[in-house]
Amino acid sequence: SALFSAVTLAPRDPILGLNEQFNADTRPTKVNLGVGVYYDENGKLPLLKCVQAAEAAMAAAPKPRGYLPIDGIAAYDAAVQGLVFGNHEAVAAKRVATVQAIGGTGALKIGADFLKHLGPNAKVLISDPSWENHRALFTQAGFTVETYPYYDAAVGGINVAGMLAALNAAPAGTVVVLHACCHNPTGYDLTDAQWGEVVAVCKAKGLVPFLDMAYQGFGFGIQEDGEAVRQFLAAGLSFFVSTSFSKSFSLYGERVGALSVVCTSAEECTRVLSQLKIMVRTNYSNPPTHGAQVVAQVLTTPELRAMWEGELAGMRERIKAMRGALVAALKAAGVTRDLSFVTAQKGMFSYSGLTAAQMQRLRNDFGVYGVDSGRICVAALNEKNLPAVAAAMAEVIK
Ligand code: PMP
Repeated sequence: SALFSAVTLAPRDPILGLNEQFNADTRPTKVNLGVGVYYDENGKLPLLKCVQAAEAAMAAAPKPRGYLPIDGIAAYDAAVQGLVFGNHEAVAAKRVATVQAIGGTGALKIGADFLKHLGPNAKVLISDPSWENHRALFTQAGFTVETYPYYDAAVGGINVAGMLAALNAAPAGTVVVLHACCHNPTGYDLTDAQWGEVVAVCKAKGLVPFLDMAYQGFGFGIQEDGEAVRQFLAAGLSFFVSTSFSKSFSLYGERVGALSVVCTSAEECTRVLSQLKIMVRTNYSNPPTHGAQVVAQVLTTPELRAMWEGELAGMRERIKAMRGALVAALKAAGVTRDLSFVTAQKGMFSYSGLTAAQMQRLRNDFGVYGVDSGRICVAALNEKNLPAVAAAMAEVIK
C-alpha cells in the first residue's frame, strides 16, 4: 500500500540471525556460543529451585491479578534497593527512587525517556564496544549516542587512559552508560581503583552516570559486584542504576528488572519518582505481576534467599570453571599465546581475541557459533561441548 511503500527493511539483529543460522545447521556437533544466556552443565536453560519454590508457594495461595501500582510491587522495589545499594544511608533517607521495569531493557528505556525529558540536548556516551542495544535504545529515545574508548585489542584489555580522557572532554550533563560489572561484550571490568578515577571524573565534570547492572552476582559475588555502585554513592553523586534479573534468576522471559535513581534528598526523590511514573504510565501503564512477585518472594524469604544465593554462586562458579577448562584445553592443544585474560574476564562473555575471519572459520568449518567480534558466551560451555570447542579454536588460532 502507499502507506508503507517507503518503509525500508530493517537489518536483522545480528545475534538472532546467528541463532537462525545455528538452528538450520544440521551438524550434530554444533555449539551455540553466540547468545547471552546461561546454560547448565547439561546445556539446558536452568529453572532455579528458589523460583520453583516461590512459584509453588504462590500457587498454594493464589491471588487475583489486579493492576499493580505504576511503580510496581513495593516489596519488590524495596528488595531491589537492598540488593543494589545495601544498607546505605541513601535508602533509609528515602532518596532513591525505584520503579519495577520490564527487564533491564525496560529499565534503560524508562531511564532514557526520563533523561530526555530532563536534558533534551544531552549526549549519551556508551563504551566501545557495548551491548548493541545501548546505542539503539538511546538513539530511539532521541539522543545522539557516541562512544568512549574501552576495549583495546592491541593490549587485550581496557584502555583506561582513553576512557578517562573521553569522559574528561565530555560536556557537563553528558549521560555516561557504564557496565556496573561483567562488561558485555568483552568481559573486562575496571578495577576498584579505576572505578575511583571514573567516579572522580564524573563528579568533577558534572556527568550523569547510568550504571547498567545486568549481571550482579556473576562476577565476584552479589556484594562484591556492587563496588561501582558503592563508589558512586560514596561520592555523593546523583546517578541511575538499571537492574536485570533475567540472568541472575534465569527468568529471561518474565521480563523482571528495575530502574533506580539516586537523588540528593527525599523531596527531590519524590519529584523524580513522579516523573518516572509518567514514563511508565505513558509506555505501558503499569508492570506485569508474576516475575517480580517471584523475585520479591525469593529475596524477602530467608530460606529462599539463601537458596538463590547458592544457585547464583553455582552459576558463577561453573562459568569460572569453564574459563579455566577452556584455557587448559587450548594449552593442551598447543596454543602458546598468553590466555590468562580468559580467566581474568568476568561474567558470561569472553572477548576471545579471535578475528572475524577466525570466528567465521569456527562457524563454517566446525559448527562453533560465536559473534564476529570474537565474543563467545562462556556460560554456554560445558564438559561435553568444551573439548570440541577448544579443538576448533586451537585449529583456527594456529
Ligand atoms: N544490559 C546488558 C549489558 C545486557 O547484557 C542485557 C541482556 N543481554 C540487558 C541490559 C538487558 O536485560 P534484559 O534481558 O533483562 O532486558
